[in-house]
Amino acid sequence: AIPLLELTDLKKYYPIRQGLLRKQKGYVKAVDGVSFNLFPGETFGLVGESGCGKSTLGRVIVQLMEATAGEIRFGQKNVASMSAKEKQAFRRQVQMIFQDPFSSLNPRQKIGDILEEPYSIHSKHSKQEREEKAAALLRRVGLDPLHAERYPHQFSGGQRQRIGIARALALNPQLIVCDEPVSALDVSIQSQIINLLEELQEESGVSLLFIAHDLSVVKHISHRIAVMYLGSIVEMATAEELFLNPQHPYTRTLLSSIPAEHPRLKRERITLVGEIPNPANPPIGCKFHTRCPYVEDICKRDVPVLKEISGHAVACHLIK
Ligand code: SF4
Ligand code: MG
Repeated sequence: AIPLLELTDLKKYYPIRQGLLRKQKGYVKAVDGVSFNLFPGETFGLVGESGCGKSTLGRVIVQLMEATAGEIRFGQKNVASMSAKEKQAFRRQVQMIFQDPFSSLNPRQKIGDILEEPYSIHSKHSKQEREEKAAALLRRVGLDPLHAERYPHQFSGGQRQRIGIARALALNPQLIVCDEPVSALDVSIQSQIINLLEELQEESGVSLLFIAHDLSVVKHISHRIAVMYLGSIVEMATAEELFLNPQHPYTRTLLSSIPAEHPRLKRERITLVGEIPNPANPPIGCKFHTRCPYVEDICKRDVPVLKEISGHAVACHLIK
């Protein structure tokens, strides 16, 4: 299959400025050389602790931020060299949903107007057509079309996320970047939203990049999962393979905090030592070495590269 999205050695560095003169003192390497492909109709889970760069990566992909280096190809076109017209199409085809959808919604706008907006910006529809489309969107995400007359504050967290999803769906996107869409919701509501995303994907074939800090959240919805640590992918595999056969010590640590569903999968308990290092001053060699229970001398010296064996990629000196 031809990938929908191709990331090659993507980097996003933030300059660190200090003192009265705001002199630049190095960089935070929020995204530090990330490469992967995402295929049409695929859900790709991206997991890591807060500060690992996963939200930055999502924002760079949807072009809310510019990459520092590397390449993003969408539909086989380099995003950086798209014409104005291609860029416009890209903005329709690639949407994002956020942890708190309402931080990006106008509190004084009715839901109906919010959902009609994409149609007035990107195409020529009559008012009646736009109202019908907004009503259809509300139905599609499991809300009563009468809600169009209400304002954002009149909805619960789960309903708000449904509205955020409806807005993202308005222009029939090919890719939705979901940045922690359920982490602010009650556990009982989380699975409803995840199920909704899964259903919508099945009926429309949209690709999802699903960002989360918790592996258990992405487990059931993702075809493949990548685990990120301090700006780099440390492991990437199909969801099944990652859960049955985790290789990287960091992934195993994340998994050991999730209760196994099956006794056969009883996991060793590995507890993470120490805090996540300061991303402005990451450890030399393997960035995980300050917290890794298996650290060896080589880990403090050489950066392990992501090596793939039959679809399962791991960056660790221990894994040959
Ligand atoms: Fe641990 Fe070394 Fe592997 Fe890094 S390279 S995860 S420090 S064993
Ligand atoms: Mg984040």
